[in-house]
Amino acid sequence: MSELNPFLIAQRQLDECAKILNLDDSVREILRVPMREMHVSIPVRMDNGKIHVFKGYRVQYNDARGPMKGGIRFHPDETIDTVRALAAWMTWKTSIVDVPLGGGKGGVICNPKEMSEGELERLSRGYIQAISQIVGPEKDVPAPDVYTNPQTMAWMMDEFSKIHQKNQFGVITGKPLELGGSAGRGDATARGGCYTIREAANEVGLDLKGATVAIQGFGNAGYFAATLVTSLFDCKVVAVSDSRGGIINENGLDGEAVFEYKAKTGSVVDFPDSDPISNKDLLELDVDVLIPAALENVITDENASSIKARIICELANGPTTPEADDILYKNDVHVIPDFLANAGGVTVSYFEMVQNFYMYYWEEDIVHERLDKKMTSAYHATLKASRKFNINMRQAAYVVAVERVVEAMRLRGRL
Ligand code: GLU
Repeated sequence: MSELNPFLIAQRQLDECAKILNLDDSVREILRVPMREMHVSIPVRMDNGKIHVFKGYRVQYNDARGPMKGGIRFHPDETIDTVRALAAWMTWKTSIVDVPLGGGKGGVICNPKEMSEGELERLSRGYIQAISQIVGPEKDVPAPDVYTNPQTMAWMMDEFSKIHQKNQFGVITGKPLELGGSAGRGDATARGGCYTIREAANEVGLDLKGATVAIQGFGNAGYFAATLVTSLFDCKVVAVSDSRGGIINENGLDGEAVFEYKAKTGSVVDFPDSDPISNKDLLELDVDVLIPAALENVITDENASSIKARIICELANGPTTPEADDILYKNDVHVIPDFLANAGGVTVSYFEMVQNFYMYYWEEDIVHERLDKKMTSAYHATLKASRKFNINMRQAAYVVAVERVVEAMRLRGRL
């Protein structure tokens, strides 16, 4: 079994890239660890009247290219090493799409599924208060991630604004449209991923019309991916899943109907007109495109050789281990690596920051057009590097992203 600590995996990926680029050891040392991290304890009054102390983190990985940027996860299994890995990946993510930002990430150990709306609001306000000294529109700008959403962002923005005694819309992105959010942010991660699928399909000679798709995870990214691959390309989504299990229908599933069903029942499981399938079996389905859109380490050395998809579009962060990467590459599976595939979210977050600074808001079609341009050129820069160095797409994305960060550090005189 391979190493599954996400931070050790992130460091290993970087080490590999350092070798390809022949990076100086001292540069590699800087890039292997976060610049700063803050560990906080957040006392929250629960509905039963008692105070519960939650543990939270904000990791600021690298700011050479601009203010740090990255989401906040609320998850019972959150660990500091997961947040470190995600912060590192944010650094490479903002770089690969060439937006003027660095990388960071936040996390709180909690189970939102077992908390009331009031408890979640008090926790959100408590968390942003606790990290308020190190975040801000020009320092570090959080956003949504697993189990946080526009409402969470609104509470945090409001709390931060209270501390500063003025509206600070730019402190956080992924806000509701009514409060300085950007058009097109809701489905941006999935839409950005779809643009890379379009380019990849062209590259491998796959006709997307009628192509079959399986999606693991049905949160923000997975749900929008299900609807967009159908509406943009006329693909057929044959299977989707969430943490409780999956569903399959060879004739195609209607993403919107599954979403409505999940909103009512809490899960996609038992959706009418479908058969059950496990998360494990879903990954190994004979489909054209596989979209992991949930959590880390789902494609490992144990199942990589059973994967039959031609294209994997990693909307999740860190779904594939390095050993699995080698197997997929040998088997000619075209992997669109996570920090490229899912960079649409942060790209539109960057657009949101720009609009907040400007106080002038763009139409949705402008956002889509600019997002498409960013994703398409990031995909082709990666493809070009993979050909130049004869390396897989993840290594290639690292090469492009790390080179840009190193160049910024060099120009700033930090090396
Ligand atoms: N949480 C998202 C990600 O992992 C978005 C980050 C952002 O918008 O800053 O890319």
